[in-house]
Order: sequence, then structure tokens, then C-alpha cells
Amino acid sequence: MTKLKIALQKSGRLSDKSAELLREAGIHFPNDGSKLRTEASNFPLEIYLLRDDDIPQYVADGVADVGIVGLNVVAEKDKNLKVAERLGFGKCRLSIAVPKNEPFSGIADLNGKRIATSYSRIVSRYLKEQGISAEIHEISGSVEIAPGIGLADAICDLVSTGSTLLTNGLREVVTVMHSEAVLVARPDLSREKAELLDKLVFRLQAVRKARN
Ligand code: ATP
Ligand code: ZN
Repeated sequence: MTKLKIALQKSGRLSDKSAELLREAGIHFPNDGSKLRTEASNFPLEIYLLRDDDIPQYVADGVADVGIVGLNVVAEKDKNLKVAERLGFGKCRLSIAVPKNEPFSGIADLNGKRIATSYSRIVSRYLKEQGISAEIHEISGSVEIAPGIGLADAICDLVSTGSTLLTNGLREVVTVMHSEAVLVARPDLSREKAELLDKLVFRLQAVRKARN
């Protein structure tokens, strides 16, 4: 029997809510976060627990058929994937922030500046659209300390409440994108798998309606 393979974040902000959403959709599977692969007992679904940053690649390669990951990661990895459904959790924004005492009157102030980010592809694309030429420094974590240590003039990072920015003496000046968890799929699924995906999406939509 054909099974749909879904990739979920193994441990992080999206993990619990992803599993919870599947369970609310009536899909039963073992609650053992230490296993990297498990199966649902009442829906043809195989579940893989992976690092969220790797999910777009695994789905693009067909290791998994679908995955739950932040739209920000989908946009940064830029694989040929289809957003099958927005899931309404993991909401945040990708924003540019500058030191709080630094004057800022508009995006043009970023010309010639150094911007530290883990989202270099999204930020480059955005600045290009805006006609800004800045230097992008790709760093993988703790981006918010970069201005304080003289590594950058600004940062672009994920923000939800903004408290991390404040703690680091930064203020948000430009929103580059809004994000939330999404269900992504390979565009070339077999007919059987596409039908399973439709069934899954139908159930996820029912959960969201019931939650509202
Ligand atoms: P790692 O890959 O090192 O475990 P990560 O930052 O990629 O860390 P999480 O912190 O678990 O992983 O974030 C996963 C996703 O949760 C993000 O890509 C984003 O879509 C979403 N998210 C929601 N709110 C926030 C926030 N305030 N900060 C960071 N991510 C957030
Ligand atoms: Zn990650």
C-alpha cells in the first residue's frame, strides 16, 4: 500500500505543534521523539523527524513527500516545492533591525551597510528589489549580537515578540517577510500520493476550522 512520507521538525519551536496538529486531525502515531522514523496506525503515513533546515532538501529529493516547516526556511532554501497549506502556527516575521540609538529614516539608509543574517538569499533578493546595495554577512546563529561586536551595522532575523532585539539593544525597522508553518509538497507526486495529500490537507483544514 502506498504511504505518504511526511517530514517534521525533530526538536524545536515547530515540533510539538506539528505533532499536535496531526493528532488533532485524528492521525495516531507513537509519541516517541527519539525515533527518527515512525508510522501512523490509522492513516497511510510515515513520519520522519528531521532538522527543520534540511526539510526542503529532503522533500525536493523525494526522501519525504511532504513536510511541515517555516515559510522562511522554504523561501531561503528556494527548492521547487509547493505550499499545500498554511498551518497558522509558528508565526513570526523576518525583520531588519539596527542599534536602537542609530538614526534610521528609511530603507535607503542601508546602502553600503553590513547586514548580518542567516537568511542571505531572502535578504539579497529583498534588497535587490528595493534597489539597495549592502554587504551581507551570512552567520548561522546568534545574529543579534553582530552589531554589538562590530561585525555588522544591522541584522535581519526572525522576530516574534521583539524582546530578543530589545535585550540586545536593537530596534526593528523593516519587515522583510511574514512567516508561519506551512505544509510543503513535492510538485511531482504520484497520483496515489497526491490523493493522500488531498486527504491530509482536508483533515488539517477541518482542524483549523474547529479551532477558530
Ligand atoms: P535550529 O535549526 O538550530 O534548531 P532554528 O532557529 O532553525 O534552530 P527553531 O528555533 O526551532 O529552529 O525555529 C523553527 C521555526 O520556528 C523558524 O524557522 C520559524 O519559522 C519559526 N519561529 C516562530 N517564531 C520564531 C521566533 N521568535 N524565532 C525563531 N523562529 C521562530
Ligand atoms: Zn533550524
